[in-house]
Amino acid sequence: MYQSKSFIPTLKEEPAEAQIPSHRLMLRAGLVRQVAAGVFSWLPLGFRVLKKIINLLREEIDAIGGQEFFLPALNPVEIWEQTGRAEAMGDVMFHIKNREGLVLAPTHEEIITYHARQHVKSYRDMPQIWYQVQTKFRNEPRPKSGVIRGRQFYMKDSYSLDENFDGLDISYQKHFEAYKRIFDRCHIKYFVVGASSGAMGGRQSQEFMVESESGEDTCAVSDSGYAANIEVASSALEPAKRLADNPEIEKFATPNAKTINDLIEQFGIPEERCAKSVVYMADDSPVLIFMRGNDELNESKLSGVLGTNNFRPAESIELVKYTGADHGSIGPINLKTKFKLIADNLLENANGLVSGANIDGFHYKNIDFSRDCSIDEFHDLRTVHAGEPCPVNGSPIRVAKAIELGHIFKLGTKYSEALGAKFLDANGKENPIVMGSYGIGVERIMACFIEQNHDESGVIWRQPISPFDVHIIPLGLNKSAEVGEIADKIYKDMSDSGFEVLYDDRNESPGVKFNDADLIGIPYQIIVGMKNIKNGNIEIKSRDSGERDIVPIDAIADYFK
Ligand code: ATP
Ligand code: MG
Repeated sequence: MYQSKSFIPTLKEEPAEAQIPSHRLMLRAGLVRQVAAGVFSWLPLGFRVLKKIINLLREEIDAIGGQEFFLPALNPVEIWEQTGRAEAMGDVMFHIKNREGLVLAPTHEEIITYHARQHVKSYRDMPQIWYQVQTKFRNEPRPKSGVIRGRQFYMKDSYSLDENFDGLDISYQKHFEAYKRIFDRCHIKYFVVGASSGAMGGRQSQEFMVESESGEDTCAVSDSGYAANIEVASSALEPAKRLADNPEIEKFATPNAKTINDLIEQFGIPEERCAKSVVYMADDSPVLIFMRGNDELNESKLSGVLGTNNFRPAESIELVKYTGADHGSIGPINLKTKFKLIADNLLENANGLVSGANIDGFHYKNIDFSRDCSIDEFHDLRTVHAGEPCPVNGSPIRVAKAIELGHIFKLGTKYSEALGAKFLDANGKENPIVMGSYGIGVERIMACFIEQNHDESGVIWRQPISPFDVHIIPLGLNKSAEVGEIADKIYKDMSDSGFEVLYDDRNESPGVKFNDADLIGIPYQIIVGMKNIKNGNIEIKSRDSGERDIVPIDAIADYFK
């Protein structure tokens, strides 16, 4: 009888290329191999897991009404130009050299909208949830985290089509619930962070995050359940109290004070009374921003406030041109030109402040923001820090690294307008389709599962994503034909009863086989050795608990029932 050999390509040595723990385990257990930076081959064991994750994703998206597509990785660049994303994607998009006009798609909003324009003509055709599980290509600049950041990776991407924003809210909520079920079924502990950027047209988006040292995102979390990406996180810090003594402003010489720390050290000014000035050019106009002391200006928040992504810190010549002074001496009093003045919430209504005099080497003290200058707007502009009180109940914020596992996003009409995907509403009026987009990284699910389910010996798989149900380990195959015959029979019986069985038929020593079995981490190991088969038994070990049972050979099927 022809029987192919088992393929168990575990590594004895530590793989040098692994920079994060989950990837190290994936390489050692023989799930995956790196072929080039950010490019991987899935070996049979790893591919089994990918297929299980993909099936689970299909089940959950089908269950909310999803209909599966399979869209091409090769896209006409034209359609990406129509939405402005050929430029926005920049170097992340792969362009094809010997076939002008084709690119490798990093995501599929454009193609979905193209098909929506073809086929969705009336409000009666909606809602729709269209999805696929397909390969994405992204020219990631620093693919250091193994399969977590591949240049080629699988994504489950769904898109919702609705006639209005109320419909979108429902489609979005359906995805939110489906995502929770998906990650729960995969035994992944996660948290959800929100980003609602009002200035960008009321669009809402949330990310499903896994806390991990290997993560490339930073989040603020607290015991209250508060969680937010650092880009949007806020704290419950309050502005310093107003000083009762409120004398007139006074100019003073600060020849050697360029930074807030210089002011604190040389003049003994409390940090919260320093108004740090930061000048940005936004759509070519200068904006003067005040931050409390050394607080860090958060550019994501600034982008929301300014309503544009087209901004940058001003350069020295611009500073002198607009304020009269260079870095370190800029402030709200005696500005040379008209500025938009914005300040962080922590400076609202503050007095007793020190800020630059717009003359190099001078500052003003006793500035009262409500008396001496008129600040146009106050906003939350600062980056939060660990230990600050969280906005929910004041418990201390932790700042943690995290991996983004999934992203749900209310797109609105950006793509349907750009590509002319319109429908006729109940009144016969033409409107753009209201869209949502929802992505999950398939490889990231596997990597995050492994991060959270392993010990020193290896991976600890759990159903429904374990590559196999049981792992048969015959011992001393070269010493006893009977061991091989019994193991063959168990393999056949178990497979016939519908179990997925990994069979280690290698002529390796028991020590090697046991180590590999723990490294690979199939939930149950069936150990077939001379000692036990003499009494008609085998041994079953649970990988998770380490518990061992001696079981009669005839009773194996019952054991697993
Ligand atoms: P990141 O911020 O980590 O680069 P992203 O915001 O670019 O991710 P999306 O465009 O929202 O990611 O893609 C949806 C999902 O696809 C992500 O939540 C993630 O799980 C997965 N993903 C994105 N980029 C990669 C990659 N390079 N390798 C593997 N999975 C990825
Ligand atoms: Mg994202």
